[in-house]
Amino acid sequence: QVKSISVTDYGTNNMIGVLLVIHDVTKIKALENMRSEFVANVSHELKTPLTSIKGFAETLKYVEDKQTRDKFLDIIYVESERLSRLINDILTLSELENKDYSINFQKVCLNECLTEVYYIMHRIAQEKNISLELKNFEEDLYIYGDRDKFKQMIINLVDNAIKYTPQGGNVFIKLEKEDMKAKIEVKDTGIGIPNQHLPRLFERFYRVDKARSRSMGGTGLGLAIVKHIVMIFNGTIDVQSEVNVGTTFTIHLPIYKH
Ligand code: ADP
Repeated sequence: QVKSISVTDYGTNNMIGVLLVIHDVTKIKALENMRSEFVANVSHELKTPLTSIKGFAETLKYVEDKQTRDKFLDIIYVESERLSRLINDILTLSELENKDYSINFQKVCLNECLTEVYYIMHRIAQEKNISLELKNFEEDLYIYGDRDKFKQMIINLVDNAIKYTPQGGNVFIKLEKEDMKAKIEVKDTGIGIPNQHLPRLFERFYRVDKARSRSMGGTGLGLAIVKHIVMIFNGTIDVQSEVNVGTTFTIHLPIYKH
């Protein structure tokens, strides 16, 4: 954006120059675009389950057969659940992006947190006949961070690993120490991710297979939330994957020594 202002010498009333004011609005414009794209995406994502709920609720009045009514009611329930997960994830992500969260930084024992996550996710894995294993590091490792956010990050990764691994598969969580960093691996023997999708995986609402994600109850925001939490902890996250072999997410976090 360029603005020009002429400069006049009021003694002689002659124009003695022109002042050019240049505003670089590229960044502001890019931010604005990102924001409106996000709003468009969110609206679209919210509309899908809503349309379905509305449609089935309307039709329900005219259905007399009990079996069909029950089926419709099931769909309405599942879609409402999805809607509420979506709203929760949107709120979490927007809190993280706007740095709106209350920071509760403290010394956090990773071994303890991973054990808690293991017990939460073990039941879900069992329901799908997937074996979940945790290999903790022999000595306790600590980070300086927020305990709940750390757990949420690992739960999101393990939840995905279970979601995208067929029955009878395996999911491993492993904690190690590497170059004075805590290294946490979440590995599965699932469907894998084709290489070309890996660079965009952490974008909001990016899914490799939209239909599959939807049928698994996914919101498309899990990994965007993970990425933000990793950033808050000054860590890094990498993903390696092979189609039909499995996927490994690796997080490195600075160790807290005191
Ligand atoms: P979703 O709610 O769709 O699972 P995420 O942000 O958690 O959204 O993940 C984005 C996409 O990355 C998923 O839709 C899926 O295609 C892919 N993905 C994530 N984790 C895995 C995994 N462990 N194995 C295979 N694909 C995965």
